[in-house]
Amino acid sequence: MTHDIATLIVAAGRGTRAGEGQPKQWRLLAGRPVLAHTLAALRAAGLTRLVLVIHPDDAAQAEALAEEGVLIVQGGATRRASVRAALEALCNDPPRKVLIHDGARPLVSADVIHAVLNALERGPAAAPALPVVDALWQGAEGRVQRPAARDGLYRAQTPQGFDYAAILAAHRAYAGNAADDVEIARAAGMEVAITKGCDDNIKLTYAADFARAARVLAERQARQMDIRLGNGYDVHRFMPGDGCWLCGVLVPHDRALEGHSDADVGMHALTDAIYGALAEGDIGRHFPPSDPQWKGAASHIFLRHAVALAAKRGYRIGNCDVTLVCERPKIGPHAGAMQAALAEIMGLEAGRISVKATTSERLGFTGREEGIAAYATACLIAQEGATP
Ligand code: MG
Repeated sequence: MTHDIATLIVAAGRGTRAGEGQPKQWRLLAGRPVLAHTLAALRAAGLTRLVLVIHPDDAAQAEALAEEGVLIVQGGATRRASVRAALEALCNDPPRKVLIHDGARPLVSADVIHAVLNALERGPAAAPALPVVDALWQGAEGRVQRPAARDGLYRAQTPQGFDYAAILAAHRAYAGNAADDVEIARAAGMEVAITKGCDDNIKLTYAADFARAARVLAERQARQMDIRLGNGYDVHRFMPGDGCWLCGVLVPHDRALEGHSDADVGMHALTDAIYGALAEGDIGRHFPPSDPQWKGAASHIFLRHAVALAAKRGYRIGNCDVTLVCERPKIGPHAGAMQAALAEIMGLEAGRISVKATTSERLGFTGREEGIAAYATACLIAQEGATP
Protein backbone atom coordinates (compact mmCIF):
# COMPACT_ATOMS: atom_id res chain seq x y z
CA MET A 1 0.00 0.00 0.00
CA THR A 2 1.14 3.48 -0.56
CA HIS A 3 2.71 6.36 1.24
CA ASP A 4 -0.71 7.97 0.72
CA ILE A 5 -2.10 6.28 3.80
CA ALA A 6 -0.58 6.93 7.21
CA THR A 7 -1.61 4.87 10.21
CA LEU A 8 -1.35 6.34 13.71
CA ILE A 9 -1.07 3.85 16.55
CA VAL A 10 -2.18 5.59 19.70
CA ALA A 11 -0.22 4.14 22.60
CA ALA A 12 0.55 6.99 24.96
CA GLY A 13 -1.97 6.05 27.67
CA ARG A 14 -1.00 4.92 31.14
CA GLY A 15 -3.93 2.51 31.57
CA THR A 16 -3.17 -0.18 34.11
CA ARG A 17 -6.66 -1.60 34.66
CA ALA A 18 -5.41 -4.82 33.11
CA GLY A 19 -3.29 -5.37 36.20
CA GLU A 20 -0.34 -3.99 38.08
CA GLY A 21 2.80 -2.81 36.41
CA GLN A 22 3.27 -1.66 32.85
CA PRO A 23 0.63 0.18 30.82
CA LYS A 24 -1.42 -2.39 28.95
CA GLN A 25 0.04 -1.71 25.49
CA TRP A 26 3.46 -2.74 26.79
CA ARG A 27 2.36 -5.84 28.67
CA LEU A 28 3.24 -9.18 27.17
CA LEU A 29 0.72 -11.09 25.11
CA ALA A 30 1.83 -14.51 23.90
CA GLY A 31 5.40 -13.55 24.74
CA ARG A 32 5.53 -10.21 22.93
CA PRO A 33 4.40 -6.69 23.87
CA VAL A 34 0.82 -5.97 22.81
CA LEU A 35 2.14 -3.23 20.51
CA ALA A 36 4.33 -5.70 18.64
CA HIS A 37 1.19 -7.66 17.74
CA THR A 38 -0.60 -4.46 16.75
CA LEU A 39 2.22 -3.35 14.43
CA ALA A 40 2.38 -6.83 12.90
CA ALA A 41 -1.39 -6.87 12.27
CA LEU A 42 -1.25 -3.49 10.51
CA ARG A 43 1.71 -4.56 8.40
CA ALA A 44 -0.03 -7.82 7.51
CA ALA A 45 -2.89 -5.71 6.11
CA GLY A 46 -0.41 -3.95 3.80
CA LEU A 47 -0.04 -0.70 5.77
CA THR A 48 3.53 0.58 5.55
CA ARG A 49 3.55 4.18 6.79
CA LEU A 50 3.18 3.71 10.53
CA VAL A 51 3.32 6.38 13.24
CA LEU A 52 3.62 5.20 16.83
CA VAL A 53 2.40 7.72 19.40
CA ILE A 54 3.95 7.02 22.78
CA HIS A 55 4.35 8.39 26.27
CA PRO A 56 7.77 10.07 26.74
CA ASP A 57 8.60 7.51 29.45
CA ASP A 58 8.33 4.69 26.88
CA ALA A 59 10.81 6.08 24.33
CA ALA A 60 13.45 3.39 24.89
CA GLN A 61 10.93 0.54 24.63
CA ALA A 62 9.44 2.10 21.50
CA GLU A 63 12.83 2.41 19.82
CA ALA A 64 13.52 -1.24 20.56
CA LEU A 65 10.14 -2.33 19.21
CA ALA A 66 9.67 -0.23 16.13
CA GLU A 67 11.63 -1.44 13.15
CA GLU A 68 12.83 0.90 10.49
CA GLY A 69 10.18 2.99 8.83
CA VAL A 70 8.06 3.50 11.93
CA LEU A 71 7.89 7.16 12.95
CA ILE A 72 7.81 7.62 16.72
CA VAL A 73 5.97 10.66 18.07
CA GLN A 74 5.62 11.70 21.70
CA GLY A 75 1.98 12.02 22.71
CA GLY A 76 0.28 14.44 25.04
CA ALA A 77 -1.61 14.24 28.31
CA THR A 78 -4.87 13.10 26.70
CA ARG A 79 -5.77 10.80 23.83
CA ARG A 80 -6.88 13.79 21.84
CA ALA A 81 -3.60 15.64 22.43
CA SER A 82 -1.66 12.55 21.39
CA VAL A 83 -3.54 12.17 18.12
CA ARG A 84 -3.19 15.87 17.43
CA ALA A 85 0.59 15.69 17.96
CA ALA A 86 0.85 12.80 15.50
CA LEU A 87 -1.34 14.52 12.91
CA GLU A 88 0.80 17.65 13.17
CA ALA A 89 3.95 15.54 12.81
CA LEU A 90 2.76 14.44 9.35
CA CYS A 91 2.20 18.01 8.19
CA ASN A 92 5.39 18.39 6.15
CA ASP A 93 4.71 15.30 4.06
CA PRO A 94 0.95 14.98 4.33
CA PRO A 95 -0.73 11.66 3.49
CA ARG A 96 -4.04 11.66 1.66
CA LYS A 97 -5.74 9.47 4.25
CA VAL A 98 -5.04 8.62 7.83
CA LEU A 99 -6.10 5.65 9.95
CA ILE A 100 -6.12 6.15 13.70
CA HIS A 101 -5.87 2.91 15.66
CA ASP A 102 -5.80 2.03 19.35
CA GLY A 103 -2.48 0.45 20.25
CA ALA A 104 -4.37 -1.87 22.57
CA ARG A 105 -6.32 -3.52 19.72
CA PRO A 106 -3.73 -6.07 18.55
CA LEU A 107 -6.23 -8.46 16.95
CA VAL A 108 -7.47 -6.13 14.22
CA SER A 109 -7.92 -8.03 10.96
CA ALA A 110 -7.06 -7.07 7.40
CA ASP A 111 -10.78 -7.34 6.55
CA VAL A 112 -11.71 -4.68 9.11
CA ILE A 113 -8.94 -2.38 7.87
CA HIS A 114 -9.76 -2.83 4.19
CA ALA A 115 -13.45 -2.15 4.79
CA VAL A 116 -12.50 1.23 6.32
CA LEU A 117 -10.12 2.03 3.44
CA ASN A 118 -12.74 1.09 0.85
CA ALA A 119 -15.33 3.33 2.51
CA LEU A 120 -12.76 6.15 2.54
CA GLU A 121 -12.75 6.03 -1.27
CA ARG A 122 -16.37 7.22 -1.15
CA GLY A 123 -16.40 9.65 1.77
CA PRO A 124 -14.29 11.70 4.16
CA ALA A 125 -14.50 9.37 7.17
CA ALA A 126 -15.26 5.77 8.08
CA ALA A 127 -14.97 3.64 11.19
CA PRO A 128 -15.71 0.03 12.13
CA ALA A 129 -18.40 -0.83 14.63
CA LEU A 130 -20.68 -3.66 15.70
CA PRO A 131 -24.38 -3.29 16.44
CA VAL A 132 -25.32 -3.71 20.07
CA VAL A 133 -27.15 -7.02 20.44
CA ASP A 134 -27.50 -7.35 24.21
CA ALA A 135 -30.48 -5.74 25.95
CA LEU A 136 -29.53 -2.47 27.61
CA TRP A 137 -30.59 -1.20 31.01
CA GLN A 138 -30.11 1.86 33.01
CA GLY A 139 -29.29 0.95 36.55
CA ALA A 140 -28.19 2.43 39.82
CA GLU A 141 -26.90 0.92 43.05
CA GLY A 142 -27.09 -2.60 41.65
CA ARG A 143 -30.73 -2.35 40.57
CA VAL A 144 -32.31 -2.02 37.16
CA GLN A 145 -33.98 1.36 36.81
CA ARG A 146 -35.38 0.99 33.30
CA PRO A 147 -34.64 -0.72 30.00
CA ALA A 148 -32.89 1.39 27.39
CA ALA A 149 -33.48 1.23 23.65
CA ARG A 150 -30.60 -0.35 21.75
CA ASP A 151 -31.95 0.46 18.27
CA GLY A 152 -29.33 2.17 16.19
CA LEU A 153 -26.64 1.75 18.84
CA TYR A 154 -23.18 0.58 17.87
CA ARG A 155 -20.01 -0.40 19.67
CA ALA A 156 -17.20 1.66 18.14
CA GLN A 157 -13.87 0.13 17.17
CA THR A 158 -10.72 1.30 15.42
CA PRO A 159 -8.98 1.96 13.05
CA GLN A 160 -11.02 5.03 12.34
CA GLY A 161 -10.20 6.44 8.93
CA PHE A 162 -10.28 10.00 7.68
CA ASP A 163 -9.30 12.34 4.94
CA TYR A 164 -6.07 13.67 6.44
CA ALA A 165 -6.61 17.38 5.79
CA ALA A 166 -10.18 17.22 7.08
CA ILE A 167 -9.38 15.45 10.37
CA LEU A 168 -6.37 17.70 10.98
CA ALA A 169 -8.60 20.77 10.56
CA ALA A 170 -11.24 19.18 12.82
CA HIS A 171 -8.65 18.53 15.55
CA ARG A 172 -7.30 22.05 15.32
CA ALA A 173 -10.80 23.47 15.67
CA TYR A 174 -11.94 21.19 18.50
CA ALA A 175 -12.00 22.25 22.13
CA GLY A 176 -12.39 19.86 25.04
CA ASN A 177 -11.84 16.14 25.26
CA ALA A 178 -13.24 13.35 23.12
CA ALA A 179 -13.63 9.59 23.45
CA ASP A 180 -12.38 9.05 19.91
CA ASP A 181 -11.68 10.79 16.62
CA VAL A 182 -15.13 10.11 15.20
CA GLU A 183 -16.48 12.41 17.90
CA ILE A 184 -14.11 15.13 16.72
CA ALA A 185 -14.98 14.50 13.06
CA ARG A 186 -18.70 14.70 13.80
CA ALA A 187 -18.20 17.96 15.71
CA ALA A 188 -16.67 19.34 12.50
CA GLY A 189 -19.70 18.18 10.53
CA MET A 190 -17.93 15.31 8.75
CA GLU A 191 -20.06 12.40 7.62
CA VAL A 192 -18.72 9.14 9.08
CA ALA A 193 -19.56 5.84 7.39
CA ILE A 194 -19.98 2.78 9.62
CA THR A 195 -18.08 -0.26 8.37
CA LYS A 196 -18.13 -3.85 9.59
CA GLY A 197 -16.20 -4.39 12.80
CA CYS A 198 -15.13 -7.76 14.18
CA ASP A 199 -15.81 -9.40 17.54
CA ASP A 200 -12.15 -10.28 17.93
CA ASN A 201 -11.05 -6.66 17.48
CA ILE A 202 -11.22 -6.05 21.23
CA LYS A 203 -9.50 -3.27 23.11
CA LEU A 204 -7.43 -4.93 25.78
CA THR A 205 -8.52 -3.35 29.03
CA TYR A 206 -8.93 -5.98 31.73
CA ALA A 207 -6.92 -9.07 32.62
CA ALA A 208 -9.67 -11.26 31.12
CA ASP A 209 -9.19 -9.48 27.77
CA PHE A 210 -5.56 -10.60 27.71
CA ALA A 211 -6.62 -14.20 28.28
CA ARG A 212 -9.13 -13.96 25.45
CA ALA A 213 -6.61 -12.34 23.11
CA ALA A 214 -4.08 -15.08 23.87
CA ARG A 215 -6.71 -17.68 22.95
CA VAL A 216 -7.50 -15.94 19.66
CA LEU A 217 -3.80 -15.71 18.78
CA ALA A 218 -3.29 -19.39 19.61
CA GLU A 219 -6.21 -20.34 17.34
CA ARG A 220 -4.80 -18.22 14.53
CA GLN A 221 -1.38 -19.75 14.96
CA ALA A 222 -2.87 -23.24 14.89
CA ARG A 223 -4.58 -22.35 11.62
CA GLN A 224 -1.30 -21.11 10.19
CA MET A 225 0.26 -24.43 11.11
CA ASP A 226 -2.21 -26.15 8.78
CA ILE A 227 0.36 -26.86 6.10
CA ARG A 228 -0.44 -29.17 3.21
CA LEU A 229 1.99 -30.82 0.83
CA GLY A 230 1.26 -32.25 -2.58
CA ASN A 231 3.40 -34.03 -5.10
CA GLY A 232 3.04 -34.36 -8.85
CA TYR A 233 4.69 -36.60 -11.42
CA ASP A 234 4.38 -36.50 -15.20
CA VAL A 235 6.04 -37.94 -18.30
CA HIS A 236 5.81 -36.94 -21.94
CA ARG A 237 7.48 -38.75 -24.83
CA PHE A 238 9.54 -37.07 -27.53
CA MET A 239 8.30 -36.66 -31.07
CA PRO A 240 9.82 -34.89 -34.07
CA GLY A 241 10.02 -31.14 -33.59
CA ASP A 242 12.32 -28.27 -32.79
CA GLY A 243 11.69 -27.39 -29.16
CA CYS A 244 10.03 -28.37 -25.89
CA TRP A 245 7.78 -26.30 -23.64
CA LEU A 246 9.23 -26.73 -20.16
CA CYS A 247 7.92 -24.73 -17.16
CA GLY A 248 6.52 -22.04 -19.42
CA VAL A 249 9.66 -21.62 -21.56
CA LEU A 250 10.07 -22.91 -25.13
CA VAL A 251 13.50 -24.57 -25.00
CA PRO A 252 15.11 -25.12 -28.42
CA HIS A 253 15.82 -28.83 -29.03
CA ASP A 254 15.99 -31.26 -31.92
CA ARG A 255 12.72 -32.81 -30.74
CA ALA A 256 9.41 -31.76 -29.20
CA LEU A 257 7.22 -33.33 -26.52
CA GLU A 258 4.06 -35.12 -27.52
CA GLY A 259 0.83 -34.54 -25.67
CA HIS A 260 -2.76 -33.49 -25.80
CA SER A 261 -1.92 -29.93 -24.67
CA ASP A 262 1.41 -28.15 -25.18
CA ALA A 263 2.93 -31.10 -23.25
CA ASP A 264 4.70 -28.89 -20.68
CA VAL A 265 5.69 -31.77 -18.46
CA GLY A 266 7.13 -29.58 -15.69
CA MET A 267 4.06 -27.40 -15.45
CA HIS A 268 1.81 -30.46 -15.44
CA ALA A 269 3.71 -32.00 -12.52
CA LEU A 270 3.53 -28.71 -10.62
CA THR A 271 -0.18 -28.30 -11.32
CA ASP A 272 -0.82 -31.84 -10.07
CA ALA A 273 1.21 -31.10 -6.94
CA ILE A 274 -1.13 -28.21 -6.10
CA TYR A 275 -4.23 -30.27 -6.83
CA GLY A 276 -2.70 -33.00 -4.71
CA ALA A 277 -2.18 -30.70 -1.73
CA LEU A 278 -5.85 -29.74 -1.98
CA ALA A 279 -6.94 -33.38 -2.45
CA GLU A 280 -8.55 -32.22 -5.70
CA GLY A 281 -7.45 -35.02 -8.01
CA ASP A 282 -5.29 -34.13 -11.00
CA ILE A 283 -5.29 -32.14 -14.24
CA GLY A 284 -7.26 -34.89 -15.98
CA ARG A 285 -10.16 -34.40 -13.56
CA HIS A 286 -10.41 -30.66 -14.19
CA PHE A 287 -9.44 -30.65 -17.89
CA PRO A 288 -10.47 -34.04 -19.35
CA PRO A 289 -8.24 -35.08 -22.29
CA SER A 290 -11.45 -36.35 -23.94
CA ASP A 291 -12.62 -32.72 -24.19
CA PRO A 292 -11.40 -31.29 -27.54
CA GLN A 293 -11.31 -27.72 -26.16
CA TRP A 294 -8.07 -28.54 -24.30
CA LYS A 295 -6.31 -29.90 -27.39
CA GLY A 296 -3.09 -27.93 -27.84
CA ALA A 297 -3.98 -25.79 -24.80
CA ALA A 298 -1.26 -23.70 -23.18
CA SER A 299 -0.54 -25.38 -19.85
CA HIS A 300 -0.58 -22.12 -17.91
CA ILE A 301 -4.37 -22.42 -18.08
CA PHE A 302 -4.12 -25.54 -15.90
CA LEU A 303 -1.61 -24.01 -13.50
CA ARG A 304 -3.61 -20.80 -13.13
CA HIS A 305 -6.69 -22.88 -12.38
CA ALA A 306 -4.91 -24.84 -9.65
CA VAL A 307 -3.50 -21.65 -8.08
CA ALA A 308 -6.92 -19.99 -8.16
CA LEU A 309 -8.52 -23.07 -6.62
CA ALA A 310 -5.98 -22.99 -3.78
CA ALA A 311 -6.78 -19.32 -3.15
CA LYS A 312 -10.51 -19.99 -3.28
CA ARG A 313 -10.13 -22.75 -0.71
CA GLY A 314 -8.22 -20.32 1.54
CA TYR A 315 -4.64 -21.49 0.98
CA ARG A 316 -1.60 -19.56 -0.08
CA ILE A 317 1.29 -21.28 -1.78
CA GLY A 318 4.33 -21.26 0.49
CA ASN A 319 6.78 -22.63 -2.05
CA CYS A 320 7.12 -25.19 -4.79
CA ASP A 321 9.94 -27.21 -6.28
CA VAL A 322 10.11 -28.81 -9.73
CA THR A 323 12.71 -31.34 -10.90
CA LEU A 324 12.98 -32.14 -14.60
CA VAL A 325 14.63 -35.45 -15.54
CA CYS A 326 16.32 -35.60 -18.94
CA GLU A 327 19.69 -35.95 -20.62
CA ARG A 328 18.89 -33.19 -23.13
CA PRO A 329 18.01 -30.41 -23.63
CA LYS A 330 20.24 -28.85 -20.95
CA ILE A 331 17.96 -27.15 -18.44
CA GLY A 332 20.48 -25.11 -16.45
CA PRO A 333 20.73 -22.18 -18.89
CA HIS A 334 16.92 -21.85 -18.88
CA ALA A 335 16.17 -22.49 -15.20
CA GLY A 336 16.05 -18.79 -14.30
CA ALA A 337 13.64 -18.00 -17.13
CA MET A 338 11.46 -20.96 -16.06
CA GLN A 339 11.43 -19.71 -12.47
CA ALA A 340 10.39 -16.24 -13.68
CA ALA A 341 7.71 -17.64 -15.98
CA LEU A 342 6.17 -19.76 -13.21
CA ALA A 343 6.35 -16.82 -10.78
CA GLU A 344 4.42 -14.65 -13.21
CA ILE A 345 1.76 -17.29 -13.84
CA MET A 346 1.36 -18.13 -10.15
CA GLY A 347 1.54 -14.56 -8.85
CA LEU A 348 4.33 -15.57 -6.46
CA GLU A 349 7.76 -14.18 -5.66
CA ALA A 350 10.40 -16.00 -7.71
CA GLY A 351 12.17 -16.93 -4.48
CA ARG A 352 9.29 -19.27 -3.62
CA ILE A 353 9.72 -21.29 -6.81
CA SER A 354 12.53 -23.70 -7.58
CA VAL A 355 13.24 -25.30 -10.96
CA LYS A 356 16.11 -27.76 -11.18
CA ALA A 357 17.07 -30.72 -13.31
CA THR A 358 18.95 -33.95 -13.26
CA THR A 359 19.92 -36.60 -15.77
CA SER A 360 19.24 -40.25 -15.02
CA GLU A 361 22.80 -41.30 -15.84
CA ARG A 362 21.64 -42.60 -19.22
CA LEU A 363 19.49 -45.20 -17.47
CA GLY A 364 15.86 -45.92 -18.22
CA PHE A 365 13.55 -44.14 -20.67
CA THR A 366 14.82 -40.68 -19.80
CA GLY A 367 18.40 -41.96 -20.15
CA ARG A 368 17.59 -43.33 -23.61
CA GLU A 369 16.09 -39.90 -24.46
CA GLU A 370 12.66 -41.31 -25.18
CA GLY A 371 10.97 -38.59 -23.15
CA ILE A 372 11.17 -36.22 -20.19
CA ALA A 373 9.88 -36.83 -16.66
CA ALA A 374 9.09 -34.20 -14.03
CA TYR A 375 8.53 -34.30 -10.29
CA ALA A 376 7.04 -31.43 -8.31
CA THR A 377 6.23 -30.60 -4.70
CA ALA A 378 3.96 -27.80 -3.55
CA CYS A 379 3.49 -26.48 -0.02
CA LEU A 380 0.17 -24.79 0.77
CA ILE A 381 -0.47 -22.80 3.94
CA ALA A 382 -3.97 -22.28 5.27
CA GLN A 383 -5.16 -18.72 5.68
CA GLU A 384 -7.94 -17.48 7.90
CA GLY A 385 -11.18 -19.14 6.87
CA ALA A 386 -9.57 -21.99 4.90
CA THR A 387 -11.75 -25.00 4.15
CA PRO A 388 -9.91 -28.24 4.98
MG1 MG B 1 1.07 -34.18 -18.82
